[in-house]
Amino acid sequence: MAERSFSKEVQSLRLGAGEVFHGEGILAVTKALLQSGVAYVGGYQGAPISHLVDVLVDSQDLLDQLGVHLETCTNEAAAAALLGASINYPIRGCVTWKSIVGTNVAADALSNLASPGVIGGALIVIGEDYGEGASIIQERAHAYALKSSLWLMDPRPNLATMVDCVEKAFELSEATNTPVMLELRIRACHVTGSFVAKDNVAPAISRNRLLAEPAPHNYDRISHPPSTYIHEKLKHEVRLPAAQRFIVEHGLNELLPGERQDLGIIVQGGLANVALRGLDRIGLGDLFGRVQIPTLVLNVTHPLVPDQIVEFCAGRRAVLVIEEGQPDYIEQQVAAILRKRDLQTRLYGKDVLPMAGEYTAEVVTDGLLKFFAQTANDIDLSGPRERLEAARAHRSKALQLLGGPLPLRPPGFCVGCPERPVFGAIKLVEREYGKIHISSDIGCHSFATLAPFHLGNSILGYGMSLAAAGAVAPVMQRRTISVMGDGGFWHNGLLSGVSSAMFNRADRVLIIMQNGYTSATGAQYLPSSTANRRDQQRTSDIAATLRAMGVGWLRTIRTYDVGEMMRTLRDAMTTKFAGLKVIVADGECQLARQRRIRPEIAAALKRGERVVRTRYGVDDEICTGDHSCIRLSGCPSLTIAPSPDPLRTDPVAHVNNGCVGCGLCGEIADAAVLCPSFYRAEIVQNANAWDRMLFRLRQWVIARLQGRNADSGTAPALQPAE
Ligand code: SF4
Ligand code: SF4
Repeated sequence: MAERSFSKEVQSLRLGAGEVFHGEGILAVTKALLQSGVAYVGGYQGAPISHLVDVLVDSQDLLDQLGVHLETCTNEAAAAALLGASINYPIRGCVTWKSIVGTNVAADALSNLASPGVIGGALIVIGEDYGEGASIIQERAHAYALKSSLWLMDPRPNLATMVDCVEKAFELSEATNTPVMLELRIRACHVTGSFVAKDNVAPAISRNRLLAEPAPHNYDRISHPPSTYIHEKLKHEVRLPAAQRFIVEHGLNELLPGERQDLGIIVQGGLANVALRGLDRIGLGDLFGRVQIPTLVLNVTHPLVPDQIVEFCAGRRAVLVIEEGQPDYIEQQVAAILRKRDLQTRLYGKDVLPMAGEYTAEVVTDGLLKFFAQTANDIDLSGPRERLEAARAHRSKALQLLGGPLPLRPPGFCVGCPERPVFGAIKLVEREYGKIHISSDIGCHSFATLAPFHLGNSILGYGMSLAAAGAVAPVMQRRTISVMGDGGFWHNGLLSGVSSAMFNRADRVLIIMQNGYTSATGAQYLPSSTANRRDQQRTSDIAATLRAMGVGWLRTIRTYDVGEMMRTLRDAMTTKFAGLKVIVADGECQLARQRRIRPEIAAALKRGERVVRTRYGVDDEICTGDHSCIRLSGCPSLTIAPSPDPLRTDPVAHVNNGCVGCGLCGEIADAAVLCPSFYRAEIVQNANAWDRMLFRLRQWVIARLQGRNADSGTAPALQPAE
């Protein structure tokens, strides 16, 4: 039930040697895993690598044929621990997650994996969700590579390089007994291109080729003292030099030669295309890698190879390091290498490029211009500078004409989202009790922190909202409310939140949004989904789990019933019951629901069956135009329209065609005692004789009430849909 089905694209995973693969980067990475003889794969979804897991789920038949085990993990720690198979057995494995948050969750297992090291190739594909498109905190996984001695690859975003890096990553891992992280930015995941495929390789040890015996006990492979003291020495004395040798011998970093011998550029592989774009704009290169300034593309950003850096920098007056994000790990290392080898090459980096923020083509072009301005008088920069200034002037002119910056468009809940009514109910309850401390979480429900709800005081991580209220609740006169999704509950909230709160006899309120999927990452299944990827069986039940843990105050409420939700919230906020109070807010993700029912409706219509759809509307003659309904709902379908009354200038509320008929409008208007302007309409398709007769009868009654003839030709208010 993922957001996007790859069932067609996965056919390209079956391509054999010599055939040409065309498609997206993330699909190419998946093909590279199969070409590398991977024996097990797993992960936790999240942008920008959700599709890697989704593609694998859609490839189950192929995985079964090859004997590859696929594990859809409930969090990144579980995914990282999966790599433990490669500690004792010569089998290749790959796991994936969204970084930096996923790497944080996986950190414990990663440390314990990196310490003993691996004998089978272990690869971690991380989606570095960095920059203005990112939905998370801005940090770099590079820190983990440095502290845990993991190797970090950052391939140039073209398919051939990415595939090559995946294959080489397994070899590097085995040659150095070290897990390798491969970082993909969002553009790399979705870049399209082609490469010449190889045959898939069935692993020598797999689900289809079982081991007769477990590995012999070897304490050296346990991450406990005194083994850890040996591991620490191995990391530095054996694995690091082996990795540096491998990087050079296999040409993992690319040198783009250029005629200027006095200048150079060192760039992270993932940013190489942006750097080429900048050089192209300045007239010093093109998009295909032909450059006038020699450029060292680091497809491996950790470890650096000091000899390679020295060889590249020696004899050059100045070198620019293009490295996105902070701190400037690579620049600092290059500076240290140059200093230790007593090279006088002047180093530029974060002094001409910004320390923080995404390195877009404009940002990098600007940095390149500053670098050349300080280092190369002979390059005429007037043209590119003018073009950059002209582009900026054009943008500010457009802003001027628009009368200032465009209004922000914060993300919000989908039309008909089942989570919206809960926040409407909280807002209404706040009118009675005053403001409540809301501890928010990761997931769609975090949209409530934005307009029009503005509900949420903090977000501490996925599944952490209940724990995050731990020290707030005891100092608060009013009870706190923690909101967490079912995804967050299974990911971490069950133990870090509920178990800890029970253990500490916490007097807090928890709302669990049970929408049935990890919706924010593309609607993947959860342990409590009504189905899972293999069959239509629910594996776990949230309410039953909570009861088994001893939660004594537990209510399951249909989210769209705003009145009942308000009564339950009042009860939770005021009950004498002093322990944890949990409300399971039940309502299927509307996006997933629409995706599920649309084909069913289309099929029913095709068969000529009667189909009834519900829509809501606003009677524009009754609407007072105060828009309280919009402030309490925030549904994108509930918008405004000019008032039909010439004496009223305020626009009226209006429900547009996007309405899915969830019913919240009516519920909220009723619960908040708003004007009675909402009406509910049923759209009947393939109407039967009874529907038609009823319709005519209604038209007749309406016409009588209006004092006209039902057949007078006046357009009826509601036509039966065919
Ligand atoms: S994806 Fe589902 S849960 Fe998320 S905002 Fe949309 S309808 Fe709501
Ligand atoms: S009924 Fe109201 S809240 Fe629900 S989808 Fe329609 S406009 Fe939106």
